Amino acid sequence: MSIKNKSAILSLVVPVHNEEATINIFYDTLQDVKKELPIGINFYFIDDGSDDKTLSILKILNQKDENVHYLSFSRNFGKEAALYAGLQHADGDYVAVMDVDLQDPPELLPEMLTEVMNGPYDAVGTQRVDRRRKKIIRTWFSASFYKWMNRVSQMHLVEGARDYRVMTSQMVEAILSLSENQRFSKGIFTWVGFSTKYISFEDRDRVAGKSSWTFWNLTKYGIEGIVSFSTLPLTIVTFLGLFSFGLAVIAGFFIVVRALINNTSVAGWPSMATIVLFIGGIQMLSLGVIGRYIAAIFMETKNRPIYITKEEK
Ligand code: UDP
Ligand code: MG
Repeated sequence: MSIKNKSAILSLVVPVHNEEATINIFYDTLQDVKKELPIGINFYFIDDGSDDKTLSILKILNQKDENVHYLSFSRNFGKEAALYAGLQHADGDYVAVMDVDLQDPPELLPEMLTEVMNGPYDAVGTQRVDRRRKKIIRTWFSASFYKWMNRVSQMHLVEGARDYRVMTSQMVEAILSLSENQRFSKGIFTWVGFSTKYISFEDRDRVAGKSSWTFWNLTKYGIEGIVSFSTLPLTIVTFLGLFSFGLAVIAGFFIVVRALINNTSVAGWPSMATIVLFIGGIQMLSLGVIGRYIAAIFMETKNRPIYITKEEK
């Protein structure tokens, strides 16, 4: 490896939540990868309110290695908050974001970093391809999410994009300037612009421990993503309202004319009930959609901190 710039530093931001089983494996693996890197690295582990031995393991690593820093939240604030805290603290000329479970292949790091250092890219991101197709339903949901998100938000999210990436400190600064509370990093990474190259890798299992994501969590995350980057659902709802209003006017006209021509009595109440249900349904749906946005405004106006630190070193 060419020794170009020994004084430059790569900061590694690693969110951890109940990862006592994986942190040491991760750290040891990174020691090997470190040798391949043209510059030095330091670690920023963000303990996202773990209730296992995660924090004490981080403390031991910190004592052993002065390049290991940690910050511990007062409770679980979520991976997005942990990423934000990590990016705020990372002081390197280049910053990498990486999961601790080694699902983000560390051996790609030297290539990614070199690519960013040599330009012309400001960031190198990663994209996961799953050839094993183990979780068919999940894969289908995730593919549809990306398809709709891209249609709905005029922003291009890369399908299967991971948070795993290397970027310049300039880009990190841009990301931090978006101080919104409900963060959707995949969207924010794209929104700030800069040129990003994507490399793909094959999906693999985590080395140890288990994923903290449930299907319900992922669904909520997807809805939050759409609400924070698109207002198209509101437009759709408006058109639905106009459509059913138009339909009602035409139907009303039809009923009046029919009553004038031949004075029929109470026939047709089933269709009436159907119409009432139809309109009621559209209204409920619309209220729900509008409600999501109001909830987002509500949370945002409270202006609460994105995370609360309990201790750091
Ligand atoms: N994580 C976190 N806070 C959470 C959930 C997860 O900081 O509330 C971290 C976790 O420790 C890991 C990364 O985010 O380093 C990815 O989590 P996980 O492997 O559970 O997600 P998946 O790989 O299934 O998407
Ligand atoms: Mg994982």
